[in-house]
Amino acid sequence: MTAKVSQADADTIKAAVNILRHGGLVAMPTETVYGLAANACNDTAVARIFEAKQRPAFNPLISHVSNRQMAEQLAIFSPLAQQLADRFWPGGLTLVLPKRPDCPVSDLVTAGLDTIAIRMPQHPVAQALIEQFGGPLAAPSANPSERLSPTTAQHVADQLGDKLELILDGGPCRSGIESTVVSLAGDQPALLRPGAIARDIIEAITGPLAKPGKTISSPGMMKRHYAPNARLRINADAPEPGEAWLAFGPTPHEAAANLSPTGDLVEAAANLFHMLRALDAHHSHIAIARIPRHGLGEAINDRLDRASV
Ligand code: AMP
Ligand code: MG
Repeated sequence: MTAKVSQADADTIKAAVNILRHGGLVAMPTETVYGLAANACNDTAVARIFEAKQRPAFNPLISHVSNRQMAEQLAIFSPLAQQLADRFWPGGLTLVLPKRPDCPVSDLVTAGLDTIAIRMPQHPVAQALIEQFGGPLAAPSANPSERLSPTTAQHVADQLGDKLELILDGGPCRSGIESTVVSLAGDQPALLRPGAIARDIIEAITGPLAKPGKTISSPGMMKRHYAPNARLRINADAPEPGEAWLAFGPTPHEAAANLSPTGDLVEAAANLFHMLRALDAHHSHIAIARIPRHGLGEAINDRLDRASV
């Protein structure tokens, strides 16, 4: 598969919506950088994002929306969140907010957290794509892990062209830097990532923004936050008495759940968070089968290593 760069007109946007509905990946232009978009509510589609980017860990992704109603189905908006959205949306501000209990977005998008990052992009192609798709799109920057963020469709084609179905060309990105990420999920508003909108413009509304880590865990500092209540034993060959067995691939043992009966790492990544959550609710001890460390296995093992400390 090699994605063609296609001028984003009404027909190609329709084709992109169709790909997204079938769980595929589409590169979309936004005013910040190009995003690698998938249906935020489809676990497998989101797992494919991580596979394509070859991220060694499951960092939470931003959910992109086209209107406020869509955003308010995902997160709880405080009056301050409303104010920031009024002022900066659509645009280069991402808000991290408490996730609604009935939020339909995949646990893989939020990395199992009870918060969710949301942005309403301004670029007309991103707007049209999300609006016609009719739901939130998870989209990190469309570059392989640790490479520069793409600001033209050709950058995406050069770096990720063989990993996705369609690249919508909406011209060079106006802003060219990532969105500013502000968390309103802690005790105090905090700046998690500087970006397209300057701190002082935001602080005019929020007051001084705290550093991440003080009142809120920022990604990478989430070691404890990630941990379930159950005792996890990883790299297990078989369950011991009293342990629920989280299998991977064919297994002779009775399994409480199987991350992927066929040993498919994309399927395992898609199932990881919700299976852990479900087992954690009913078991105090969970044994988890050895997961290969190649491809998405690296991120899966990273997550399990953190959860088992
Ligand atoms: P990118 O995927 O490159 O667009 O970057 C997304 C940014 O948003 C990263 O810095 C993430 O760590 C951050 N982010 C996304 N969701 C959350 C969340 N729930 N809590 C804290 N930070 C988040
Ligand atoms: Mg990025």
